[in-house]
Amino acid sequence: MSHPAEFSLTFSDAPSPFDDPDADLIIRSSDRVQFRVYKSLLSLASPVFKDMFSLPQPPDGANNEAVDGHPVVKFTETSTTIHNLLILCYPAYLFGSNPSPTIRSLSDVGNLLEAVTKYDMHKTRDTVCQFLLQPQFLEKEPLRVYVIACRERHEAIARTAARHVIRHELLREDFFSELEMVDAGLLYQVLLYHKRCILAAMAVASDYTWIREGHFGFRACPELMGIGSVDHTIQGKRKEGRVPAIKVHGWWSKFMEDTKVALQKSVSEETIKDAGRVSEACAAANQCSRCRPVAVHYMEAFVDAFAKEVDKRISQVRR
Ligand SMILES: [Zn+2]
Repeated sequence: MSHPAEFSLTFSDAPSPFDDPDADLIIRSSDRVQFRVYKSLLSLASPVFKDMFSLPQPPDGANNEAVDGHPVVKFTETSTTIHNLLILCYPAYLFGSNPSPTIRSLSDVGNLLEAVTKYDMHKTRDTVCQFLLQPQFLEKEPLRVYVIACRERHEAIARTAARHVIRHELLREDFFSELEMVDAGLLYQVLLYHKRCILAAMAVASDYTWIREGHFGFRACPELMGIGSVDHTIQGKRKEGRVPAIKVHGWWSKFMEDTKVALQKSVSEETIKDAGRVSEACAAANQCSRCRPVAVHYMEAFVDAFAKEVDKRISQVRR
């Protein structure tokens, strides 16, 4: 009775396959779940486990707890992290067709990555990192995905996450613990990247020289050729050293100005192709007899080209 407090606690059993009574070791999580596991499988997956199990066992005493004759090892990780870690240790065929860790949150991914590092299971790192790319994580917490990916030095995932960060205004996400694990330099790089991407998108929305001539009917609409009917002009493509002015409708200029404002809050394809703004432009285009029959078709093609051009410029932004 050397630990009366502990004896009063109850332990729960982990689900299959970690409930095997023939297993030779019991791992107990910080939240008091017991996993029955085979030392040999863990040793194959992790040199840290291998070393742990090859150490000579201390003589029997009060500190050597055993359940059903099997030694108990207490882990500091929660049952969720241990469950996920053990799945990575066990051969896939034990689980049927689709063995996979249980990932409900980015904390689950972050904790599992920490455990993978602690137990030196580097071959599984890439597999675990792929969980960062789940759409709900990229959509809701892209900065957190970015920070974790940088911590894991996973460049491809960091790049993908950065592209999602610019879809939102900064400081949208609540504080998350991983921020304490990265230095200010990394965060400043994100701020700069965010700013550069907005500037790159704004440049596309302001400088129309990328628009290919003859592609969109509203550009240089014949209605605008008569004196007095010109709403706006834009700068065309540079030709022989000069940039010609091209007449455009006011509704199109308004669409571009409104999009520019929206891009400052979110640099994304969805911002450019916003259905409300596009249909507002098309409705205004109805006032021109020449534009009316073609506006919807041309606007669709135009926002597509617009989004592609922004995407191209963003991919050139240094991170
Ligand atoms: Zn027109």
